[in-house]
Amino acid sequence: MVSLHGGHSGEFCEHATGTLRAILDAAVAAELSAYGVTEHAPRSDSRFLYDSERAKGYDVERLGREFEAYSRESLRLQRQMRSSLEVVRGFETEAVPSSSYVESMLALRREHKFDYVVGSVHHVCDISIDESPRHFREAVAACNGLEPFMERYYRLVEEMIRGLRPEIVAHLDLPKLHAPQGADLCTPTVRRAAETAIEAAKSHNCILDLNTAGWRKGLPDPFPSPWLVRLAAEAGVPFCFGDDSHGASQVGYGLKRARQYLLGQDVDSITVLGLGQRGLERQQIPLTP
Ligand SMILES: [Zn+2]
Ligand SMILES: [Zn+2]
Repeated sequence: MVSLHGGHSGEFCEHATGTLRAILDAAVAAELSAYGVTEHAPRSDSRFLYDSERAKGYDVERLGREFEAYSRESLRLQRQMRSSLEVVRGFETEAVPSSSYVESMLALRREHKFDYVVGSVHHVCDISIDESPRHFREAVAACNGLEPFMERYYRLVEEMIRGLRPEIVAHLDLPKLHAPQGADLCTPTVRRAAETAIEAAKSHNCILDLNTAGWRKGLPDPFPSPWLVRLAAEAGVPFCFGDDSHGASQVGYGLKRARQYLLGQDVDSITVLGLGQRGLERQQIPLTP
């Protein structure tokens, strides 16, 4: 078992708990063979601070400092723990401000020599869609309704993929987290936009994150939902597992169930990333019932 999206820690992320070391120790205890750490990229403009960060007096300088510290500590732990755990070192991108994030995310990757990148879209119309139901409603209103909002979201995912070429695309249907119960999130228009994003993932050789945080947050499915898993599988886009841990107790959460979930959608292999002699290596591993 390998998780390639997670390792957010209280040391470097306001909404996570505990140390990065504690998370990696939990990965060893859970007998994971490799663990991808992907702290959030710092947001560079104070209008993107979360309410919880503002309440604690965070500013963008602090986000920047903590990310620098994350970069150093993840490198140190990667070396120190080499004999017990393969730590694959990455970060999770932001797609704001929409006009300039591509350059800043590519620069972060280059400057800190990360092994890989998890590409995420957490904002639509530069408004957070996963921070709270209130923010979600604001983003939907800014798009003049749920269907245009969903269409816009998948267009942004497509643009993010083309701009950042991330190894992994995170939580593909994140908007369902705060969508109203019973809302139709796969109308023909939305589905076409999602298909275009999946085609972009295919043409840029991306892996989709089968992200168990959906279950952890009380949704009936992980990210992404079955219809998207099937679309991706039909398009030939592979999957990896991501526990999206924000603390040691969440390490490995739902991975066994995620395996059964993929098998239930006729996905019969999983892709893992590891560090070989010549850098990052991908391996496709069969899933057996
Ligand atoms: Zn987070
Ligand atoms: Zn995320």
